[in-house]
Amino acid sequence: MTAEVRRDQQSIQSVTDGVLLEVRNLKKYFPIKTGLLQKTTGYIRAVDGISFYVKKGETLGIVGESGCGKSTAGRTIIRLYEPTEGQIIFKGKDISRLPENRLRQQIRRDIQMIFQDPYASLNPRKTVEKVLKEPLKTHRYFKMKSEYQDRVDELLTLVGLDPSYKNRYPHEFSGGQRQRIGIARALALNPDLIIADEAVSALDVSIQAQIINLLQDLQARFQLTYLFISHDLSVVRHISDRVVVLYLGRLMEWAAKEDLFNQPLHPYTQALLSAVPVIRRKDEQIRERIVLQGDLPSPADPPTGCVFHTRCPMAMDICRKQVPHPKAYRPGHFVACHLYD
Ligand code: SF4
Repeated sequence: MTAEVRRDQQSIQSVTDGVLLEVRNLKKYFPIKTGLLQKTTGYIRAVDGISFYVKKGETLGIVGESGCGKSTAGRTIIRLYEPTEGQIIFKGKDISRLPENRLRQQIRRDIQMIFQDPYASLNPRKTVEKVLKEPLKTHRYFKMKSEYQDRVDELLTLVGLDPSYKNRYPHEFSGGQRQRIGIARALALNPDLIIADEAVSALDVSIQAQIINLLQDLQARFQLTYLFISHDLSVVRHISDRVVVLYLGRLMEWAAKEDLFNQPLHPYTQALLSAVPVIRRKDEQIRERIVLQGDLPSPADPPTGCVFHTRCPMAMDICRKQVPHPKAYRPGHFVACHLYD
């Protein structure tokens, strides 16, 4: 870890009161294997040294284009993928290297995930009752059979579904209802943190609004903390308290929602926001559309220096040579860009 990264992390850590989850210099590289012998010839740097924290009870949005590493970050935090490097501090404990048996006891209950496609994540051969009982039974949550039954009814009611639906199979529900079942399953073990990975992206806009309202109601009721991963800035703006912007596996900007949307600092964030059709409030400036040139570079061969320099309209000489690390431009507003050195 460079001195610069260490210093940035110290400034991040100085404001970590009430933090539930902290990610420090997290990396996830996937090996590229080629040839008959499947030799490793390179790495896809899906997540490349990101640091941020999530406070208890808040929603942290993670945004970026497809391929920016946001889903990989979520899956690495919950340890569906093994981190290549870095730390994942959850409730004050480093869980990045915990063996599976200890993960199961300590973490699998407390962090849950909601996926984009609930149909793919619900076993089509199991009734909703079985789907919801599964995590409860795995963790021997109750002693009495009737308690499992009652919890299933309670969970379905919590997500706005009639408990009498419990004997139905996933294919008998609409997309929105299936996502409600996914949420019920995530809630079953009373988690502290829910990672929602593109949880409303596959739904119609009107259904999206219902699911977002449900997530917000549940958050208020159970003091839930959300990591809300989405490519949709309008949705992230609606639900998040703070937002992290990723590009090619690196953190570009991280700020409170109002700061990020009203005063974006990073050229990449400015370009992303300029493309969002939103009804602007009176105090917001109308931004000109910034069209990014070129394609997203490959995470197997990222550009040197600032990974955004091949598409950045403000790129300078230094940008090709030196990696900009996130620095606090103002309290709580971090940006990784040489324009703010
Ligand atoms: Fe653009 Fe340079 Fe800032 Fe990167 S560091 S965003 S290339 S100005």
